[in-house]
Formats: sequence, structure tokens, C-alpha cells
Amino acid sequence: MHAPDRRKVMVVTGGSRGIGADIVRLAARTGYKVVINYANSATAAEGLLDELNTDKTVAHAVKCDVSDEPSVVGLFAEAMEVFGPVSVLVNNAGVTGGFSRVSDVSARTLAETMNTNVIGAFLCCREAVRQMSTRMGGVGGAIVNVSSRASQYGGAGEWVHYAASKGAMDTLTLGLAREVAAEGIRVNAVAPGFVDTELHAHAGDPDRANRLAAQTPMGRPGTSPEIANVVLWLADDAASYVTGAIVAAAGGR
Ligand code: NAP
Repeated sequence: MHAPDRRKVMVVTGGSRGIGADIVRLAARTGYKVVINYANSATAAEGLLDELNTDKTVAHAVKCDVSDEPSVVGLFAEAMEVFGPVSVLVNNAGVTGGFSRVSDVSARTLAETMNTNVIGAFLCCREAVRQMSTRMGGVGGAIVNVSSRASQYGGAGEWVHYAASKGAMDTLTLGLAREVAAEGIRVNAVAPGFVDTELHAHAGDPDRANRLAAQTPMGRPGTSPEIANVVLWLADDAASYVTGAIVAAAGGR
């Protein structure tokens, strides 16, 4: 991968911790200016800014709940104001809603999961397309959605609601890729398998990734930097003929 022009701007939703933070770290090292979106983890965002902002021009943090339309509009306006038009959007923010069989799932869990994972991704795509599309005066760009292999396995017994939200994200990827292919925008997704982040502890099972990954072909969980590598490749011009792809990064699962 070659270093992008310094002017390239990447927005990473949920970028202050977990997989998002390693996407931010790799993007900054590769030469992007990075907008770190966070919803609740202000301290983590501050820490990441301190880590990256050696010359004060590499990274900028914006608080925004991606499911809130005015906040998303504000996030993209601030990105434009601080660094210029967005070149890459990484829709990484996500929640599982916790464990629940379908027979027990609450409307609240469904709303929280769909609002963040589906509506949030849609709203961010909308704002990104408005800045990137050559049809609207932009210079093109790339969108990378962080989906999950759960969309293909279904999450039975644990979180069908979460898996279904990632299925919607896969369809968003396929449809939007075709919709904006002639407008200079590529849209792809990475579908991680088990990655050892706080996501599993938040759902109530801290050892979940290690335990379940032991049964996968590679026999181990993935790491956040391994997912970040795929995201950065999909964002880069090295993937210039790749759009509408959903790349599994799941150790063979
Ligand atoms: P994580 O450690 O729990 O981090 C989740 C991130 O999403 C946090 O940065 C959080 O920000 C952000 N977020 C949640 N709700 C938000 C909202 N409404 N608005 C803005 N940001 C919000 O999880 P992770 O493992 O890094 O997951 C990152 C992505 O990878 C998710 O989309 C997840 O579904 C996907 N994934 C993970 C795995 C895995 O095994 N870990 C596997 C497949 C796919 P705040 O802390 O600021 O709220």
C-alpha cells in the first residue's frame, strides 16, 4: 500500500477504542488525517489524540452518537471544517445489544442495535456520499463497513438481532456500492470473526472470543490490527477495482 496524499481524510466511527482505535492508529501511520468519532469514551479518545497528535494536525476527535441524525450531520460538517472533504468513511461503531434468544428479545434491545448498527451506518454513508460523490461536486472516495461473520451464521441462541443488523449492513454495502460506483465511490465491507475486544465483555461473556475461536479453522481469535489491515487495504487505491465486496477476516470461519 502506498501512503495517500496527506490531504486524505478518514472518519472512523467508534474510533476511540477496540477495533476502531487500531484502524485509527494504522490510518494515522499510513498518512491520513483522521477524525475519531466516539459516543461515550471521551477519555479513550483523549488518550488516542495524545498518542497520535505529535504535530497537532493528524487527528481530531468528535463526540457523536451515530444513531442521532443531527449529530451525524454535525460530525461530517466538523470533519470538513477541520480537515476538508472526507475521503474515507469507516463505519465501525457497533453494539451487540447483549445476549438474548429471539423469544426473549426486547423492543428496546432491537431498537438500540438497529439504530446504531443500521441507521447509524446509513446516516454516515449518506453524509459521506454527499461530500464524496462526483455527481455532487466531490472527488470520490471509499466507504468501508465493519460487518461481522455473524451475518452469515445468524447468531442463534445469542444474538440473532445483532447478526441481522450486520446482514442489513451487508446489503447496504452491496446496494450502495452499485448506486455510487459511477460517482467515484467504492463501498466494501470487512466481516471479522471473533476478535478479542471489550465487545464480548460488554455483552456479558469476557472469554467468548478466545473460547469460540478455539473451534475455528485457525484456532485463535483475530486481533484488532489484523482487521485494521483489511480496512486500510479496502480504503486504499490499491483496491481501486474492488467494490461491493464483503471480505471475511475470520481465520477460516
Ligand atoms: P467495542 O470494543 O465494544 O467498541 C465498540 C465501538 O463502537 C466503541 O468505540 C463505541 O464508542 C462505538 N459505538 C457504540 N455505539 C455507538 C454510537 N451510537 N455512536 C458512536 N459510536 C458508538 O467493539 P469492537 O469489537 O471494537 O467492534 C467494532 C466493530 O467490529 C463493531 O461494529 C462490531 O460489531 C464489529 N465486530 C466485532 C467483532 C469482535 O469479535 N470484536 C466481530 C465482528 C464484528 P463509545 O465507547 O464511545 O461508546
